[in-house]
Amino acid sequence: MRVSVDDDVCGGHGVCMMLCAEVFVLEDAGYARAVMEEVPPEHEAAVREAEIRCPTRAIRVQ
Ligand code: SF4
Repeated sequence: MRVSVDDDVCGGHGVCMMLCAEVFVLEDAGYARAVMEEVPPEHEAAVREAEIRCPTRAIRVQ
């Protein structure tokens, strides 16, 4: 499973980071970034939850 954050859409709310700090970090510029492209199996559920709960739908999961 792969994940990315669209920084044109991200509003910097940090919901993703609260749900999965192992995968998402908030940059100083005010938007989130995925620190890894390939998500380890143990974090897949949290990343899917972040995708669903992101207020701006900025998280892409493939
Ligand atoms: S939850 Fe969505 S809008 Fe908020 S920081 Fe994460 S990617 Fe950005």
